[in-house]
Amino acid sequence: MQVEALSKCGLVVFLYRSQFHKIKRSQMDGDDLYLFHEGERIAQGKEGSQPQADRLQPRLGTSIDVATGRDEFFREQRVVYASSMDEDGYPWVSEVTGPAGFLDAPDKRKAIFRGKLTSVLPEDPISANLRTCSDRRMAMMVMNFEKRIRYRANGNLQAYEPGNDIVLDVAEGIPGCPKYIQRRRIAGPRQCREELVTRGESLSAEAIEVIETSNTTFLGTVNPRGHNDLSHRGGFTGFVVVNSAVQLVIPEYSGNGMFMTLGNLELCSRAGLVFVDYEGTGNVLQVVGDAFIEWKNAEYEGAGRLIRFHVKKFILHHCASPYKWDMIDYSDVNPAHGRGHGEDIPMQGKGLFPLDMVMTESQATNESGTTKRFTFKGPQLIPYTPGQYATFLLTLPSGRKLERSWTITSRPRTSAGDHEMEITVKHMKGGEASTYLHEVEGFPHIQLIAVGGELSPYLTGVPELPRQVILISAGIGITPMMAITRSLRETDVEITFIHSERHEKDRAFADELAMLKLSNGSFRLTTTVTDRMEAINPGVVRGRITKELLQTKLKLENHDYQVYICGPGKFISDVCEFLLQLNVQTSRLHTEDFNF
Ligand SMILES: Cc1cc2nc3c(=O)[nH]c(=O)nc-3n(C[C@H](O)[C@H](O)[C@H](O)COP(=O)(O)OP(=O)(O)OC[C@H]3O[C@@H](n4cnc5c(N)ncnc54)[C@H](O)[C@@H]3O)c2cc1C
Repeated sequence: MQVEALSKCGLVVFLYRSQFHKIKRSQMDGDDLYLFHEGERIAQGKEGSQPQADRLQPRLGTSIDVATGRDEFFREQRVVYASSMDEDGYPWVSEVTGPAGFLDAPDKRKAIFRGKLTSVLPEDPISANLRTCSDRRMAMMVMNFEKRIRYRANGNLQAYEPGNDIVLDVAEGIPGCPKYIQRRRIAGPRQCREELVTRGESLSAEAIEVIETSNTTFLGTVNPRGHNDLSHRGGFTGFVVVNSAVQLVIPEYSGNGMFMTLGNLELCSRAGLVFVDYEGTGNVLQVVGDAFIEWKNAEYEGAGRLIRFHVKKFILHHCASPYKWDMIDYSDVNPAHGRGHGEDIPMQGKGLFPLDMVMTESQATNESGTTKRFTFKGPQLIPYTPGQYATFLLTLPSGRKLERSWTITSRPRTSAGDHEMEITVKHMKGGEASTYLHEVEGFPHIQLIAVGGELSPYLTGVPELPRQVILISAGIGITPMMAITRSLRETDVEITFIHSERHEKDRAFADELAMLKLSNGSFRLTTTVTDRMEAINPGVVRGRITKELLQTKLKLENHDYQVYICGPGKFISDVCEFLLQLNVQTSRLHTEDFNF
């Protein structure tokens, strides 16, 4: 099987390269557009996710584009995961570390690991791989665990000698979503005494322990463009299952529908994994082998499919990871699989707060042409903070169950929460849950299963509110802004609210915001309507939110402000880019993407 897989990998790379000229050039910014390869299309076809993948395709590129400040983001990080190819064509995944500033992205097409600052483990195959592999492929995943940001860049290295800078010519730059990232932060340096490294072809008891206590791994694969590729996988502790000393099972949770990793595995089974015991021993486990997809899975909750990983070699570096970490919380979307589910990690008011309450009363009112407000009452206090969202399980008359999240737009009457909550739902054409809620007569069967989210001035970890809060939203992204506005309107915090809508009739909360503008001198409101034809009311600006509009409307001289942004992904990245150009620091930007 492995010999077959190897020769197939080589052939596919060769065939694909001969078609590489087909990549298109974007007229917008001179960047190439990422085109899905055959393996990705096969995988998308199997899962029917091609429309979703096509919608996301414009976010992918052939250069680095971290919307919230490329240089700053790269320079802040102290840990990067990298995948390099050994002589047999297996991608080894490594933890590469250094002080802040060891990684740099001086332009869109280059990532540099500063030689003197970069640290790789002495017996990690990456050093030899980077020197000897003829086309020096490397993939990297830049991680900010604490903010749940990941960024993936693949390419080829310039000539490398140990001790010199590692320079990656970037050929693919792909932002990742925050799903399944467990939040953790560096607590300090790790004091290690051992320099023990063990190796083998079937996993030792210690190696198995690292996997079984992990909630995070990085999966290296090879794509037919001849690049290494690297992706993040996370879940509750123990989510990767050790079937035997030579076989692991990785449950594949629902993702963005692009199937980049599984698409690679469709064409080439060679794969690598790294596991790190972040909070405990500091052991780092590297494993390579062949990975095969099982498309239909009923074994593991929340996983539509599985990867069966056949171990070929492993290297265990004892007490080797130079940083000791503190776990903050699990991702609030991890499926309930793995031993860590239900573990008592302090929530600190953020992340997931699991609940189980069937709503006992509901009331609905029309808010705008396309939105409706619902007030639900629970049997007990619902703990929430302004800006957070609620996740519900909705049972349709057919018995079908849907899990959806909607921002809580009401202001809780106590600091601990309220028995009531309001949500504001936009009717999405063809959307199952929103259509049901907009059309249902009487009381929908709706069960509250969690409250979560961090888009809130009350959840920054700093006890005082800032002097000014800037809220920027588009479309239904207005909902968290409304919750924040309602909670702050009786404080002395200045609110600058900029909202964009396609049609004025669809603008939710228009009357309430207009009243607030009239009655409250420290509330500034700007509304833009993007439709070019329709008549607009006086005071409404026509067009999109631009850098120039932000420059005119925002008062950034006082440095005590925070910015909250919500809307479609492209809107968020554009607004972040404008604000960075206006010298707003990344640390002031807080965003939420509703993923549609
Ligand atoms: C943190 C968070 C907060 C949110 N807050 C709000 C909020 O306050 N208000 C709000 O209205 N929404 C909010 N959302 C979005 C909300 O969770 C739902 O996604 C939204 O209501 C649509 O759900 P739906 O079931 O109606 O649509 P879905 O059935 O999930 O469909 C979504 C879209 O995809 C399209 N679609 C579905 N199937 C296909 C297919 N096979 N091919 C092509 N297209 C397809 C639909 O036409 C629709 O436009 C929030 C989301 C998150 C993550």
